[in-house]
Amino acid sequence: MSARTPLIAGNWKMYKTEAQAEDYIQALLPLLSSVDGVEVAICVPFTDLRAMVDSARGSRVEVYAQNMHQEPEGAFTGEVSPVMLSDVGVQGVVLGHSERRACFGETDKALALKVPAALEAGLRPILCVGETEEERDNDDTERKLRQQVRDGLARVPDERLAEVTIAYEPIWAIGTGRVASAEQAQEAVAFVRALVGDRDQRAAEGVRILYGGSVKPENAAELLGQADVDGALVGGASLDAECFAQIVAAATR
Ligand code: PEP
Repeated sequence: MSARTPLIAGNWKMYKTEAQAEDYIQALLPLLSSVDGVEVAICVPFTDLRAMVDSARGSRVEVYAQNMHQEPEGAFTGEVSPVMLSDVGVQGVVLGHSERRACFGETDKALALKVPAALEAGLRPILCVGETEEERDNDDTERKLRQQVRDGLARVPDERLAEVTIAYEPIWAIGTGRVASAEQAQEAVAFVRALVGDRDQRAAEGVRILYGGSVKPENAAELLGQADVDGALVGGASLDAECFAQIVAAATR
């Protein structure tokens, strides 16, 4: 059995006002009271961060942002810096989600700066990688993963590589209900681990690699049972506290 503690991270995307977020966390915390051996994070919109940090304080739930700029401050209208996130008490940040890459032009070049900037600010980054359906059909998955992992980690020193969590999220499985098979998830996650191993073997053993893409209570146990899958990044199913708690429970088995 792996020594890596599983992480279940919920990605709310652009859902929930502050009042809705408060209701959610009050519902979630009692559902997690008996859960052991798994870390839990919710990645919430910027406007919910402070309220969620306050409400989750002292609990097992960590609060993450969904994006950040790499600079500590500057003339970048509409952006939020790593220092601002850690100042609010946020513990981590999702970087390079495919929706940010596709809709907002997030590049591997920017991620090469954002990932180490998050670590420098004391934030735990979750770097998202994954192929489109077309890339999978064209046997291009490994090339895509190689480039995204190599670039995203390029400026992270070897001794800090294991502090980055990587989420393998095949784009064709995100929000589609078309979950990857357990074999597909294991194969891709093991490949990502080998890529980290090309940099540093010890880091490859310690780095957490999640699967993301239509994870639900019904399929979570099988995916999370794969040898290299260290948890899940959960979108739609994380919006309901009970559903999310069931996925967290699946990670404890
Ligand atoms: C995600 O937003 O990262 C995600 C995996 O979404 P979903 O679980 O809805 O596919």
